[in-house]
Amino acid sequence: MAKNSVTLIVPILNEEKSLPLFFERLDPALAEIKKSHKSVRFTLLFVDDGSTDASALIVQKAKLKQAKIQMINLTRNFGKENALFAGLNHCTTDAAIPMDVDLQDPPEVIDQMITEWRAGTDIVDAKRASRSEDSFFQRFTAAGFYRVFNIFSERPMPENVGDFRLFDREVVTALQQIGDKKRFNKEIFSWIGFKTTQIEFARPARAAGASRHSFWRLWNMALDGIFSASTIPLRFWSYIGFLIALFTFLYLIFVILYTLAFGRLVPGYSSTIVAVLFFGGLNLLSVGIMGEYIGRIYAEVRNRPNYLIKSTYGMGED
Ligand code: UDP
Ligand code: MG
Repeated sequence: MAKNSVTLIVPILNEEKSLPLFFERLDPALAEIKKSHKSVRFTLLFVDDGSTDASALIVQKAKLKQAKIQMINLTRNFGKENALFAGLNHCTTDAAIPMDVDLQDPPEVIDQMITEWRAGTDIVDAKRASRSEDSFFQRFTAAGFYRVFNIFSERPMPENVGDFRLFDREVVTALQQIGDKKRFNKEIFSWIGFKTTQIEFARPARAAGASRHSFWRLWNMALDGIFSASTIPLRFWSYIGFLIALFTFLYLIFVILYTLAFGRLVPGYSSTIVAVLFFGGLNLLSVGIMGEYIGRIYAEVRNRPNYLIKSTYGMGED
């Protein structure tokens, strides 16, 4: 298999501030990489995820010496997970590297990725060497997420590895076959298998603009991740149910014996209300968890596409 052409897949949502900085840094970085990897050719595939600012225009006007520029314009914002899927589906090169436009995934790291790839690995994970640039809260929640995820998932997810990875052609083809309607790429990336190598890099803060991933969005992504990786939360309720049934049975025997020995029990308001509230809460929680899966089943059954394309640029068909 040839290992020459590489597509950088870059989803963008209203990034007019970051794009000029990205181009400025990328071109010399790619020139440097081509010095050590002579035959490598780069394609830059932007996925415009429903930007309402000048992002698409900036991309069309850009001229890079080191890379061919392509763009897919989605009809609206479908979220980064789906935007990345769109990019992977249109990737025709020997390898693909998803990366962020805000320079949090430094283009210089690509050099080492290509070295590992050419040495014979299928996936190169770029792992954040530290999370020191994150707040305490972000580090705490990230660590908690990986811990919970890895309890539930049949395949553990490497910690502190984002979407910044190199995928060999074979891997890209595999990823194109996975059409989950509620996508959580990181889970898919660890599920597919393949020979994986990890390299480390320091992840800087965003170059310009602000992160789109609010706490609420990350929380929803975390739930998507866990519920798409595992059905253990459903099974969990069988055990709870069994324990409660057992406990209730023992209590029943106790009540019968007590009544036989000491006569009828009248005071019982607090134990009754506690039981009602407790089981009400448990019921709602278990229904909620079932709802998560029913929601996913609904999305799969409707079988709507993950994204819709309005137009393309630089891809031959436009
Ligand atoms: N992005 C996107 N669609 C979205 C949200 C983000 O295409 O709905 C892009 C964004 O333009 C950037 C990348 O995904 O290139 C990472 O986004 P961001 O920096 O906001 O996320 P963070 O790095 O904080 O996780
Ligand atoms: Mg970012």
